[in-house]
Amino acid sequence: MADIVVAGGGFAGMWAALTAAREIREHDAALTVALVSRDSFLTIRPRLYEADPQSLRASMLPALQAMGVEFIEGEVAAIDGAGCSLQITGTMNASRALPFRRLVLATGSTARVPAVPGFAEHAFSVDDYASAIRFDAHLAQICLQPWRQGTNTFAIIGGGFTGIELACEMRDRIARHAGEEKAQEARILLLERADVVGPDLGPAPRPQIERALADALVELHTGVAITDLRPDGIMLADGSAIAASTCILTAGQAPTIPAGLEMVPRDSQGRLQVGSDLRVAGLDAIFAAGDVASARADEDHLAMMSCQHAMPMGKHAGYNVVHDLLGIPMRIYRQAAYVTCLDLGRSGAIFTTGWERSVQKTGAEAGDLKRMVNTQWIYPPSGTTEEIHAAAHIDRRAGR
Ligand SMILES: Cc1cc2nc3c(=O)[nH]c(=O)nc-3n(C[C@H](O)[C@H](O)[C@H](O)COP(=O)(O)OP(=O)(O)OC[C@H]3O[C@@H](n4cnc5c(N)ncnc54)[C@H](O)[C@@H]3O)c2cc1C
Repeated sequence: MADIVVAGGGFAGMWAALTAAREIREHDAALTVALVSRDSFLTIRPRLYEADPQSLRASMLPALQAMGVEFIEGEVAAIDGAGCSLQITGTMNASRALPFRRLVLATGSTARVPAVPGFAEHAFSVDDYASAIRFDAHLAQICLQPWRQGTNTFAIIGGGFTGIELACEMRDRIARHAGEEKAQEARILLLERADVVGPDLGPAPRPQIERALADALVELHTGVAITDLRPDGIMLADGSAIAASTCILTAGQAPTIPAGLEMVPRDSQGRLQVGSDLRVAGLDAIFAAGDVASARADEDHLAMMSCQHAMPMGKHAGYNVVHDLLGIPMRIYRQAAYVTCLDLGRSGAIFTTGWERSVQKTGAEAGDLKRMVNTQWIYPPSGTTEEIHAAAHIDRRAGR
């Protein structure tokens, strides 16, 4: 048995485990930490719209081992909150109980699939590692055949953050598989139900987004309602049809919460309500962080389902479970600064600050920042134990 169990090895869970281990070292406490997850890799989800998805995960083991965190490979099937125990299914489907004194739940999210016929069967996704690889294999296969009606059409469904990034990248991804000339003949469509692209991003960055989509020759269709998705096309509510052999769904996230917490109050996105210390409402031994948690970032805003919020939330939850067990003061999770950095492919990127997303940088300058975030800041920490220990510190000024 570990004193502290972290469920889910994503951005929140990895940092929860490392910061818990840091606090144990800081206080020379006789406590143990275990991280249970489906595999020992951190999937770099924010990059899964990019080419070469096989390269988009990183082992967490060096950092976990350096800090003395036990890694347990398994699927958390259920949580017994009153009995302080997880039911986990491991290799060969063997099921066992894993008791805890404190749990950090950080099982993340999965793509929300609309209740429209055909979506579950025919839509591709870049939401998780396996789906991104499956989509890339399909892309390689379809791009190498001569274009026929519909096979040259790539419809991205959902004009939010991920849909925009994928649309701007799509022609280059086709070119990697089939060459520049064939990529130029492809049709890239971005379909959005709202009347504007990026409805959740607000009006400030929209002109740059629309320009980048136009420069990438993306056909933007807003105000579109899909009634049926078929292997060879899309049926729309106005009775028209689009021939397209490849549809990729990017229509938002739903939290993935194992069975057993049905009584916990949820927010409108289905996330668990947590207090300012990230303790799950009504459950003294369970804390939550990342996409499963509905936490206040400041007085007026809930944290978003994002790495930007998952990483500091994970650190706070890891810090708090140790402090709770030691009976010393915990930290309130707050994250005043909010930024976005959206990849616009060959147009660079767009960097905004504040919840109204006021544009600060565009083009290559913002592109450099996006690359730094995506290739360095969100990866597992490396180096000596002392360097990893230092990285697991909560940096209030940087909000990380
Ligand atoms: C294509 C894409 C682009 C994105 N772009 C950005 C961006 O630019 N900026 C940004 O801030 N955010 C971005 N996000 C969102 C960001 O990736 C998520 O908000 C973030 O991954 C949440 O971290 P998490 O730790 O809560 O969950 P996750 O990263 O989803 O990790 C959860 C982990 O728990 C494991 N798990 C789940 N259920 C179980 C179970 N029952 N048993 C065992 N293990 C389990 C999963 O396998 C996974 O390893 C993007 C997401 C996607 C898909």
